[in-house]
Amino acid sequence: MGQRRLANVQSDDLSKRPAHLRQRSENTVLNNTTTRKGEAFRAQRRTNENVNIRASQHVINIPVNKSIYNGYNGLQYSPAESKKQPRFNGPKIRIIPIGGAGEMGIGKNMTAIEYDNDIIIVDCGFLFPGPDYPGINYIVPDISYLEENKNRVRAWVFTHAHLDHIGAFRHLASKIPAPVYGTKFTIGMIQKSFEEVDDAYTPQYIELVPEDHEKIQIGDSFSIELIRVNHSIPDCAAIAIRTPLGVILHTGDWRFEDNPIDGKKFDLERMTEIATKEGILLMMNESTNCESDGTHDHSEFDIQESIGQIMDKYPNSRIVVSCFSSQIHRMQAILNEAKEHNRKVAFAGFSMIQNLEVALRTSIIKVPKDVVMKMEDLVKLPDSKVTIICTGSQGEFSAVLNRMASGAHKYIKIKGSDVIVFSSNPIPGNEKYVAHTVDGLMREGSDVIQNGKTHLTGIGPLHLSGHAYHDDHVKLISALNPTYYMPIHGEFHMMVHSAEIAEKIVGIKRENIFVCDNGDVLEISANGARKTGRVQVGGIMYDDSGAIVSEVVLKDRIHMSTEGIFVVVLTVQRGTGRLLTSPDIISRGFIYLRDSEELMGSIRQYLKQKVAFSFANKHVDLDVIKKELKEEISHILYDQTRRTPIVIPVINEIGGGGNINAGNSNNPNNPNKNRQVNNAHRPNDQPDFAKPVVPRTFQLPKQIDTDDIEPKTGRDYRGY
Ligand SMILES: [Zn+2]
Ligand SMILES: [Zn+2]
Repeated sequence: MGQRRLANVQSDDLSKRPAHLRQRSENTVLNNTTTRKGEAFRAQRRTNENVNIRASQHVINIPVNKSIYNGYNGLQYSPAESKKQPRFNGPKIRIIPIGGAGEMGIGKNMTAIEYDNDIIIVDCGFLFPGPDYPGINYIVPDISYLEENKNRVRAWVFTHAHLDHIGAFRHLASKIPAPVYGTKFTIGMIQKSFEEVDDAYTPQYIELVPEDHEKIQIGDSFSIELIRVNHSIPDCAAIAIRTPLGVILHTGDWRFEDNPIDGKKFDLERMTEIATKEGILLMMNESTNCESDGTHDHSEFDIQESIGQIMDKYPNSRIVVSCFSSQIHRMQAILNEAKEHNRKVAFAGFSMIQNLEVALRTSIIKVPKDVVMKMEDLVKLPDSKVTIICTGSQGEFSAVLNRMASGAHKYIKIKGSDVIVFSSNPIPGNEKYVAHTVDGLMREGSDVIQNGKTHLTGIGPLHLSGHAYHDDHVKLISALNPTYYMPIHGEFHMMVHSAEIAEKIVGIKRENIFVCDNGDVLEISANGARKTGRVQVGGIMYDDSGAIVSEVVLKDRIHMSTEGIFVVVLTVQRGTGRLLTSPDIISRGFIYLRDSEELMGSIRQYLKQKVAFSFANKHVDLDVIKKELKEEISHILYDQTRRTPIVIPVINEIGGGGNINAGNSNNPNNPNKNRQVNNAHRPNDQPDFAKPVVPRTFQLPKQIDTDDIEPKTGRDYRGY
């Protein structure tokens, strides 16, 4: 960043270095470099550090946590030191966030709760790293600790069906077989996610109805009770976990709603009853929107009214509403309004239709008669009848809304008379993608109505956050008045602010509040609570195809995405070390070879001298030569370009001195040569070829109908 990028060596630089320092190599090209070796090396190290910083955004091995709420009064202990912390004798509960605590982007929520010989796991979500991690679809929690203790795991309990709570389960369920508890819709969504898994394992599912206040015994130590909460997906619950030492209340994701679409209100009454009669030992509270001022000032019904306003205002237009695919209640509101305005509705988007299927099967959504149609039939109706509910509210490039705008959708091309409604807010980080989508729609001349722009559109609220705001947190924490408090489900700043609310407004003692990181072990006994060490945690990365991607591959991708890659292929005669062909040079994402003949000439010259010198000895160690090639080429490239691509030297040794130089010109001034070579060898696999390189042929991908495909999981996963 900010470094000079030089196309040519500056002649005045030469004078800066004493002559005797330049005479250190037999290689004239190396001798002509004006950058010191150490400087080039430091530049590479800086690049590697930057790569590491980007790669460790979501996979943190040893977190820094010097918050006053860190459980050690702000001190930072190493894992070894924290293991030496005094432990409690006698019975104790152990709380271990396996994921979701201080997670950037919020995701992979998962907590283990232990007592004696029993473990309960609450939630098992994944995390979308987005563009931070090229080619990574999602990250699931590392459950090594739980696998080692799987014989003690008695239950999986799920609070709700957002993917940051259930998304990883299909990958991990078979590793820890135990019954699964949750509400009907949540279990329906989990079962749906298993349809994409070949694994023969099917967990035992147990549906619970929060309104029943039923207590289910789990192992010898626990009982669980689901308690109704409201959120941005149907059928959500908090969990009261009764232990021999007291009640743990895990809130799940929640908001208060006076008037929920399905009539199932946050059961504050039941929670307060438990708090009053039994007391709350530990409250684990989600902290996502605790920093937002005040409370929600409108309901889902107000949003329904806004949709009605739009239908009144644009009676002759097609209306396209995009929202989160898990916002089933929002879809219900739109369906109701469409019925009212004598419109028909079609749904579009893979994840939306998947979720809708579960909602229908579990009777979560009530579809008014004669309102829903197939897209191909709907588009034949007059515009005044057409309403479409679709994905793409986060500006996802491949989601339906963008495809409709670009004309890539099979049935719909956005036109000037269309009205597009964003019934959502951008998830932080997605603003630019949403703006890009809105621009694309407005360029087509259509009217775009977004939430929060009432002063421009005259239309009321179009979105309601699924998470409680500051004042709601004050209300709930005060009502429960827990002995110990632990913020969860948030980025670090959210959890610290949640801790501050608990201490400064509600009045919980600072030493009873614990801002934990993934892997921290919080022990609670009759004598108190403290952190007593860490267990192994982390993330396993998956790509689009469902394959695991290693950290090394991720780092290479990040490095290549900023600096590119540079490969040299040498074909030498075994024994003599004679170069049999002109070196092949491949560059990707670094510099365009055709425009860099001078640099390529230098590299070729360097390589010829290098080979002549290196193979002059009888004992040739190819590994040593390759290491030197890598270092020296990196040096020359940095010297001339101020860039630090990945450099891969490849040496093919050919025995007997054959003529393999088929058609390769030795003329470095022939630009076509590099192009041919570029196409022939793609540097995407092992750097060492034992045999001569044979050009690989690539088959064109099979053409598929793009209207049927969509990312199975977009960014739209936690219904902000
Ligand atoms: Zn949620
Ligand atoms: Zn969540």
